[in-house]
Amino acid sequence: MLMIFMQEKEVSRLEQIESIAKRRGFFWPAAEIYGGIAGFWNYGPLGAALKNKLVREWRKEFVKKEGAHEIETTDILPEIVWVASGHAEGFNDKQTACKKCRNRFRADHLIEDAVKGVEKLEGKTCEELTEIIKKSNIKCPKCGGQLDDAAVFNLMFEINIGPKGGIKCCLKPETTQSSVLDFPNVYRTQRGKLPLKIAQIGRSFRNEISPRQIFIRMREFNMAELQIFFNPEETGWDGYKDIKNCTVRILPAQMRGKDEKEVEINIEVAMKKGWIPNELIAYYIAKVFMFFENVLKIDRKFLRFKELLPEERAHYAKVHWDFEVYTDEFGWKEIVNNAWRGDYDLKRHQQHSKQSLEVFENGKHILPNMYEPSFGIDRMILHLLLHSYRSDEKRVWLALPKALAPFSAAVFPLVKKDGLDKKAEEIYKFLKNDFDIFYDESGSIGRRYARADEIGIPLCVTIDHQTLEDGTVTVRDRDTTKQERVKAEELRKKLNE
Ligand code: AMP
Repeated sequence: MLMIFMQEKEVSRLEQIESIAKRRGFFWPAAEIYGGIAGFWNYGPLGAALKNKLVREWRKEFVKKEGAHEIETTDILPEIVWVASGHAEGFNDKQTACKKCRNRFRADHLIEDAVKGVEKLEGKTCEELTEIIKKSNIKCPKCGGQLDDAAVFNLMFEINIGPKGGIKCCLKPETTQSSVLDFPNVYRTQRGKLPLKIAQIGRSFRNEISPRQIFIRMREFNMAELQIFFNPEETGWDGYKDIKNCTVRILPAQMRGKDEKEVEINIEVAMKKGWIPNELIAYYIAKVFMFFENVLKIDRKFLRFKELLPEERAHYAKVHWDFEVYTDEFGWKEIVNNAWRGDYDLKRHQQHSKQSLEVFENGKHILPNMYEPSFGIDRMILHLLLHSYRSDEKRVWLALPKALAPFSAAVFPLVKKDGLDKKAEEIYKFLKNDFDIFYDESGSIGRRYARADEIGIPLCVTIDHQTLEDGTVTVRDRDTTKQERVKAEELRKKLNE
């Protein structure tokens, strides 16, 4: 075991995570036996369990506690929806192709990779990107060939529906539009009143030019979103009083620029400084921050909200904050997109569908505004795994939060004889209906502990000869490796703690 560990010690944390993921069943490339397909990943049993638990916690926080209405919608929507939403015209990246090998690259990524400390490329036109490529003499990273001028590339997957393929549709690049389209139905059927919150957990599809870095840039990915439809004249927020004393780490537009650094600040103070425009946005900034700190248990020094400058914002956004998580591997990465989209979406769909999407409240017709925190689930999972990774000279373990670990506990007989295996099975059966229990009886106990640590099992319950005498078992803690003896019948209580 030590040998294996010594060999692995050379590899990076990300490679370690990837190796654990593949060996133990967190994730692997889709269609792997055919060589996989870039940007598409599958969750194995442990990854699916982790994802389900994360989604369960998200639901608690952003659906249940928020009193939101969760809907489930189709992945395919007709082209007209994307014309109305602006995606058909504006959901683009800029690509450049190699004149020799015809490989294609995302122009901004290519420049970022080739030129250290390059200026900000967000919002640059094709002409500007082409000029930088030429000036910096950037060549094809695959074959060293000359590169074409940068050109616009729409990221949506088009799909033709029906036996003659006559109905042009797209796979949705974000779940938001379905919430906007369904807003009148939810409002009507749920006896709605503004503010009305719609939640969705679903998939998005983007034909990324250069998918990379595992879950950072995928072509099919999972999102959890909350859309808050509200009266633009009422941005005072009920929950504000509960969060106004929280401190968060933010990098507001006023502090962007060279050597930008986030500050730790009390929400109320940030509001007084005018760094956060209203109570509604302040409330969700605090909620998202606390979710990462309290549920994912990522140290707050690795978390921040960064306000986007006008040239960086999406076409629909009035105010736009990226919630970012830091890792040495990826730097600061956007994990949750937080946008005040004004009435942009409802207005555009009203124009294109020729249907009124207004509501009538307090004697007035109102076209609501919408604010959304939009979480990338897969990026959350990758960052959670990276931040949970621990190693010392003896072992590797994932310090996953107990509420999210794929298994709550492992049950091991010390040896597979003397009736210990029978007793262990009995205890496994006693626990398995209420908890996620991992059962393993083969190999040395040391190897079994090592395996349990690597997949983040918080507690290992071992049945030994003393169990048969006095009904106690040992319980080993993943993080400290300390063991204590506990009566077997108290295990449920212990696990509930
Ligand atoms: P966006 O609407 O582009 O701001 O995306 C919302 C969230 O989805 C981001 O904050 C990411 O967490 C996630 N996301 C966006 N694009 C991708 C992608 N290509 N692969 C994986 N996650 C993504």
